Amino acid sequence: MTDKICLYDELGEIFDPLNKKVCSPCSDRGYLFMPHGCCSSCSYSKGHYQHRPDSFKLIKILYCFDEKEGFFDVKNNSCKLPRQLRSIICLEYICRAMLVKLSRENLKRIDELMAEIKEDRRNNKNFPY
Ligand code: SF4
Repeated sequence: MTDKICLYDELGEIFDPLNKKVCSPCSDRGYLFMPHGCCSSCSYSKGHYQHRPDSFKLIKILYCFDEKEGFFDVKNNSCKLPRQLRSIICLEYICRAMLVKLSRENLKRIDELMAEIKEDRRNNKNFPY
């Protein structure tokens, strides 16, 4: 079994370079009129922690949730949360602009990593999120 932190690091190695190319500014036509692409609903969805109020309460304080922008860091055009604390929705979402840039191998690896992360979160009762 892979080290838990490594799962998130490896996910970051795949997504980070693409985030720089595709998200800054957002190049997905589906989000044409939204200020921060797929993160535009962060405030409304509470970083997609809307169904986990206890987790949200904790992370909200630690990472300065903003009533307008949520966890989105407008200045740096990125998420304030470390990948380990992001919701499953935020971790696995892939827009169309990004999808066409991911290789088949990377898509397969993302699936494997997300399966391990989900299993880990399901099995860990102390996991706060
Ligand atoms: S990735 Fe971060 S900024 Fe974007 S919706 Fe999720 S919590 Fe919010």
